[in-house]
Amino acid sequence: MKLGSMQAILERHPHRAERLVQILTEVQADQGWVSPEAAEAVADWTGLPLARVQGVIGFYAFLSGQPQGRYRVLFADNITDRMQGSQALMRHLCEKLWVEPGKVSTDGLVSVDITSCTGLCDQGPGLLVNGRAIPLASHARLDRIAALILGEVPVAQWPADLFQIDDLIRRRDRLLDSQLSPGDAIQACLSRGMEFTLAEIDRSNLRGRGGAGFPAGRKWAACRDAPGRRVVVCNADEGEPGTFKDRVLLNRYADLLIEGMTVCALTIGAAEGFIYLRGEYRYLLEALEQTLAERRSAGLLGANLLGRPDLAFDLEIRLGAGAYVCGEESALIESLEGKRGIPRSRPPFPVTHGYLGRPTVVNNVETFCAAALIALNGAAWWREAGTAQSTGTKLLSVAGDCPRPGIYEYPFGVSVREVLADCGAQDTQAVQISGPSGVCIDAGEFHRRLGFEDLPTAGAFTVFDHSRDMFEVARNFAHFFAHESCGFCTPCRVGTGMLKNVMDKIAAGHGTPYDLAEIERLDTVLRMSAHCGLGHTACNPTLDTLRRFRPAYAKRMKHLDFAPAFDLDGALAAARQMTGRDDAGAHIREEA
Ligand code: SF4
Repeated sequence: MKLGSMQAILERHPHRAERLVQILTEVQADQGWVSPEAAEAVADWTGLPLARVQGVIGFYAFLSGQPQGRYRVLFADNITDRMQGSQALMRHLCEKLWVEPGKVSTDGLVSVDITSCTGLCDQGPGLLVNGRAIPLASHARLDRIAALILGEVPVAQWPADLFQIDDLIRRRDRLLDSQLSPGDAIQACLSRGMEFTLAEIDRSNLRGRGGAGFPAGRKWAACRDAPGRRVVVCNADEGEPGTFKDRVLLNRYADLLIEGMTVCALTIGAAEGFIYLRGEYRYLLEALEQTLAERRSAGLLGANLLGRPDLAFDLEIRLGAGAYVCGEESALIESLEGKRGIPRSRPPFPVTHGYLGRPTVVNNVETFCAAALIALNGAAWWREAGTAQSTGTKLLSVAGDCPRPGIYEYPFGVSVREVLADCGAQDTQAVQISGPSGVCIDAGEFHRRLGFEDLPTAGAFTVFDHSRDMFEVARNFAHFFAHESCGFCTPCRVGTGMLKNVMDKIAAGHGTPYDLAEIERLDTVLRMSAHCGLGHTACNPTLDTLRRFRPAYAKRMKHLDFAPAFDLDGALAAARQMTGRDDAGAHIREEA
């Protein structure tokens, strides 16, 4: 354990237990793992039981209680990365580095493994090296990376072109076209009044862009009406495989986001906020901190907001650590409080009992950006776009089999066919809308429209042409859910594992019609009894593909008439023979 840097990390977080995830993330980045001695030091410093600290280390994928390579390479294992050859590329790098996937090299130099979607689906395959994101993996780029690792060049000194990530904005509408200057929306909010602004957000019918679609105005008003010190939280933990539009907003529209959070804070009466930034986007942290600093200097954050002593709002950025479930708002709040990201039972809802039991608004990046523009331009301007129930525009993360992947902004109500035409997709077999927890549609449904009336979406739009095996798409998603289940409730912990096993069994050619029926049964159990949305939707991709692309399953079935059963009497025959028992009491018989 490096004592000097360890002490510096602890002193940055003076005895604050709710910063446990943040502290451990920094220890992991500094030391490459969280050693037992480091865990004890953190427990002593925060006053938390060691078991709690170890429980948190074990929960988050990016924290490790075991030594990792000094260079920790993680390949994204999303379906789009696989479609672009990530598995073969990972094997190539492992050969170059003489290391087995999932293991640490014997000299401790490097480890190579897989991780869930890194938000680089438009320029994959993606990978992380010591937390730094690298797009467009290719044999040539991996050869360069292998040479840098073998030469033990610090990642901070690697050529900048390896880390170059483009925004790939392909279609703009009112959000991406906005030319808002820092402070514009806040000034508008102050001059029109908090009540009026909140009413405008409500009249705009802005619905949360994270997928659930809860009206933002209602959420803000409920929080404003709850007693206590209120908090504003931005959910920048977009982990749904196939989505990456928040990455672009955080990179290029950070002022707009913070403006929206500040408008929210003013209208609900909050002085404190957080941006919960997914660990995969760690590379955006410095630029975001810089934006916060500039806004503080300009009087747009902190005490005396815009020179008014009665107004104050400031926020800090907290890093996630590789847990998809933390995209669920109550799990995110648990993580902010330094705990494992396990979704809470609701009610009570975060708007009344959120961060540290205080009234809390949680919205995602795109929602806050839209709110800033509504505060400035009004509800009518927003409602001009979209449909009655789905007002305004929606950002889509378009990826997969199309020549023009990237970010597309459309008014709600756009058809799937129109998006496919714009991104140049040809010979499309299926589109996965809103990631694996959304819906997979086939060519007969491309007339359908994106919006809460028909196809709700958080933004992922993944295209599959006819060369793709839709069974393998669903199997990848089944592995994803089994990996990301937080393990809190038995139906999901066991059920997602069973689903993965059934899909692997079918892939191996041992599937039967009984297994297909088993998938339906698992779906029923998970929908009825899982604790949160992850469990409720875990079977979606499998059932969607089973219904629409059944031949992809049927061709793997070798035993169409096999009915599983167990012959207990037969299984005991050898034991009976050995013990010399052949009497009636030694047999399994049905009672008459
Ligand atoms: Fe965790 Fe799954 Fe239960 Fe949600 S449904 S609480 S992810 S185990």
